[in-house]
Amino acid sequence: MKQSKSMTDQYAVLGNPVGHSKSPIIHTHFAHATAQDLAYSAIEPPLGDFAKTVDAFRARGGKGINVTVPYKLDAFAYADHVTDRARLAGAVNALKFDDGLAYGDNFDGIGLVRDIIHNLSIPIKDKQVLILGAGGAVRGILEPLLAELPESMFIANRDVEKARALETLFAPIGPVQSGGYDAIITAGYDIIINATSASLSHTYLSLPPALFRGASLAYDLSYGKGLTPFLARAKAEGAAHLADGVGMLVEQAAETFAWWRGIIPETRAAIEAITVPLN
Ligand code: NDP
Repeated sequence: MKQSKSMTDQYAVLGNPVGHSKSPIIHTHFAHATAQDLAYSAIEPPLGDFAKTVDAFRARGGKGINVTVPYKLDAFAYADHVTDRARLAGAVNALKFDDGLAYGDNFDGIGLVRDIIHNLSIPIKDKQVLILGAGGAVRGILEPLLAELPESMFIANRDVEKARALETLFAPIGPVQSGGYDAIITAGYDIIINATSASLSHTYLSLPPALFRGASLAYDLSYGKGLTPFLARAKAEGAAHLADGVGMLVEQAAETFAWWRGIIPETRAAIEAITVPLN
């Protein structure tokens, strides 16, 4: 009994604060469903102590970690090797420890794309996509979204310079344009993604009237908040589908789990376990 306990592989999510994280629930679901012997905990490094905390976790035999706010840039700096998509995003949301090295990747974007295409059955190819926000999450989702070949993509942000910087960075790989909220055209977008953190504080965005008329999807990256002001507005204007970021969260976790363990978990049960109804 004692021996098998010491052999259990250790994983964790690191964030500050981390108490709200659903990652322990999700990965424990995956471990049971795939009969993997692993333990998954939540760790809150004091601000400024990310590297020290990760070193200590590795010294205890830790095999990998998820990283959430505010440590995705620290994780990027910590990694010995990062993937191209993590480099483009400038952020790492998962680390794997192997042979004394730390490997970094960013699964946020692939999680979003899998949720939209596979779970919601909504194609991105040839669609007109509007993204609200230009923060860390947007950096992670742009490349995987562009890989699905949308017809156009407009990034709108309150701080226009941040949106412009992303346009400059990503325009070589797809049809990206950017501007302020006043540059959003009033209709014609198929997929509208709220990647601002406004929903976390239940804040209304300043959006043009009838923006959601004819839209196939309104997607809010925030999760567990029910019908956010963004989703309520989309519902009132008749967007065909509404979604929050639960599916994205679980799908990125599944990608991470597969990277760590070499086995792809089924995601439906984990999504259902943490879904908050959108009403
Ligand atoms: P950042 O802090 O990096 O960026 C925040 C963005 O929101 C900026 O573009 C900022 O604009 C904008 N913003 C904040 N408040 C307002 C407001 N009142 N009006 C207009 N714009 C506003 O955050 P992240 O990019 O890391 O996260 C964004 C959201 O995505 C959060 O809700 C987070 O929880 C969610 N998320 C979900 C994930 C999932 O798996 N579902 C994964 C990662 C993130 P400005 O630049 O002008 O300040």
